[in-house]
Amino acid sequence: MKALVLEEKGKLSLRDFDIPGDPGPRDVRIKTHTVGICGSDVHYYTHGKIGHFVVDAPMVLGHEASGTVLEVGADVTHLKPGDRVCMEPGIPDPTSRAAKLGIYNVDPAVSFWATPPVHGCLTPEVIHPAAFTYKLPDAVSFAEGAMVEPFAIGMQAALRARIQPGDIAVVVGAGPIGMMVALAALAGGCARVIVGDLAQPKLDIISRYDGIEVVNIRQTPLAEAVASATDGWGCDVVFECSGAAPAILGMHTLARPGGAIVLVGMPVDPVPVDIVGLQAKELRVETVFRYANVYDRAIALMGSGKVDLTPLISATIPFADSIAAFDRAVEARDTDVKLQIAMPE
Ligand SMILES: [Zn+2]
Repeated sequence: MKALVLEEKGKLSLRDFDIPGDPGPRDVRIKTHTVGICGSDVHYYTHGKIGHFVVDAPMVLGHEASGTVLEVGADVTHLKPGDRVCMEPGIPDPTSRAAKLGIYNVDPAVSFWATPPVHGCLTPEVIHPAAFTYKLPDAVSFAEGAMVEPFAIGMQAALRARIQPGDIAVVVGAGPIGMMVALAALAGGCARVIVGDLAQPKLDIISRYDGIEVVNIRQTPLAEAVASATDGWGCDVVFECSGAAPAILGMHTLARPGGAIVLVGMPVDPVPVDIVGLQAKELRVETVFRYANVYDRAIALMGSGKVDLTPLISATIPFADSIAAFDRAVEARDTDVKLQIAMPE
């Protein structure tokens, strides 16, 4: 079977790759259907590492996947061959202290697709624990199924925010994750979500959703736009999704007294934070790392029609052209939100 392999920094190949043998009693074998390209996949391609995770051996990329169950292990009861599913890419040690606390996303032993040395899912078949494989409702396409993974980060951010009905939120940064956060915040009860970015094409895409207001921060400082939208009070929740140092330094200026800041964006290097700015409003600061226990909720929202992520799928590219798809992702066009790869039929 062919897989998309990152041989080393800057070098991808589509080549034969050994696929794991038989599913264990609690595993399923899945034929992959659609795989989204994530910023992290692209970063491993261009930089060969993320933080202390370094690609030092060939690794299959991809962690945003949907597919069809081919075979189930003897102990699997909630899935059967033919089921349409999506897969949660991070597998914790279920006996770990973090997993027992329900915070399995921060289990030091978590094994996550396409994070060295773990192979990803840009391959025609994968074997995956049934407990981290979720059936898709009929109303959710394979393409949307592959969007559950990035949307799960938005869900985690919305949960961390502890949104109350009618909250006004601001999302700093309209990259794919900023958009997911904005939609999860709306679905989670926000009355209005203001999204700020420098790139007008990105703002144009997200502004098509009801309830989203956009601010081009080249034209209007975000703090000014937030002040005028909230009569000078500030937003209940600030979602920092840019990872940009100046935005992080000024994030307290967007929040109302007693509001919350959720840090979603990941600055490449350490950045300064205005502690007194946060203290003077007694802001609650939350952080997000991946997600835990949100897949069912994300799929429920998508299945109910409350969240439609299809407008965020910019292009679907055949697996045979997946290297070209990655090179397009490296270009980071302002008009591209999510590029997806269609696996071979
Ligand atoms: Zn991802």
